[in-house]
Amino acid sequence: MKTRRLFLQKASLSAMAFAVPALNPLSAMTNTINTSAKNPQTLRVAIMGLGSYGTRVAEAIQDCERVKLVGVISGTPSKVVAWREKYGIPEKNCYNYENFDAVKDNPDIDAVYVITPNGLHKDQVIRVAKAGKHAICEKPMAVNAEDGQAMVDACKAAGVQLLIGYRMHFEPNTLEVIRMRKAGELGEIHFFQGLSGFVIGDPTQWRLKPELSGGGAMMDIGIYSINGARYMIGEEPIWVTAQEVKTNHEKFKEGIDETITFQMGFPSGAIASCLSTYNMNNLDRFYLNGSKGWVEMQPSTGYGPIKGETHKGPLSEPIVTHQTVQMDEMAAIIFDGKEPEVSVNGEEGVRDMKIIDAIFKAVETGGKVPLNLG
Ligand code: NDP
Repeated sequence: MKTRRLFLQKASLSAMAFAVPALNPLSAMTNTINTSAKNPQTLRVAIMGLGSYGTRVAEAIQDCERVKLVGVISGTPSKVVAWREKYGIPEKNCYNYENFDAVKDNPDIDAVYVITPNGLHKDQVIRVAKAGKHAICEKPMAVNAEDGQAMVDACKAAGVQLLIGYRMHFEPNTLEVIRMRKAGELGEIHFFQGLSGFVIGDPTQWRLKPELSGGGAMMDIGIYSINGARYMIGEEPIWVTAQEVKTNHEKFKEGIDETITFQMGFPSGAIASCLSTYNMNNLDRFYLNGSKGWVEMQPSTGYGPIKGETHKGPLSEPIVTHQTVQMDEMAAIIFDGKEPEVSVNGEEGVRDMKIIDAIFKAVETGGKVPLNLG
């Protein structure tokens, strides 16, 4: 707790340094509504999808300084009963997937956090936007870049913010590596390696159904190496190549990737070499090599504690609950217009989706696929 406070103190200092006024009219309007409320700075969130990660986020929110869990959207009435009791959620803030458009008329909810299977994110986020609420959406934001862009456009049209649940963008050791790289302590960046994987269990789960997952390991865990390569190197890739290996065609059906190795090239000449898999455990490792130094992180994207070594010694930033810090920082983004060190907006999510689209294309064609991430 003490370490988390320490980090939050640091974070709020930098928030003061970087705070800019909220730009879109609706967020300014939401600010006004919130200012007149009892607690002027609290982001009042409803969670959609009370599954394994939704449960983790709900618990983490309990330690937030400016986020409150006030509502739920669920298809399972028994979970709603349990969550209402546990978190003191009023009945009027509980919805199901059929009626949640009515959140539009609920002034006590500022944002909806979508934590459902990937293939449902697009329609659900667009409905949240049309209801005039800010949308926070889990990764992967969608199942392809076109859907991701439609979500960005819908949120823009509705004047609400769209943030993606990239919790690593707020993790202190990760931010320290980014600081080191920006300060030139690693010299010119030449190489990144990302290994992301685990052995997936239950063969009947939604993660192995293409219509709900949009893909296999790449959508679920490989995305950490994609996103990590971008924030560790600090550039956007300009090409990808990729190769797929499938050892179990029964479990990993058409449209579900088991193992993919992929490479990305960056404008400076830096390269990334990554592995995404549902078939190997203990794969959660980043390695960054520069002309003056190096960083090794393992675990690099799990729930933590994130551990790492650099040429200067171990990474020793405070250990935090990722989702607690993420949610408090998202409140600052929504209400104060804070610019995070690494963006978590919808456009950031679309960049990862474009890379995933290109990786699947590279697997199919066997060639090098150019990227233009703008
Ligand atoms: P779970 O299967 O544990 O939970 C998903 C929940 O979504 C279900 O419990 C259910 O909640 C709801 N749901 C609605 N429609 C369906 C459907 N057709 N099939 C299954 N569930 C449905 O998944 P996770 O919580 O692990 O993952 C949810 C999202 O969060 C994914 O996008 C995943 O990638 C992301 N995630 C992110 C992590 C991170 O670290 N950022 C970690 C883990 C997951 P209900 O019964 O309330 O309707």
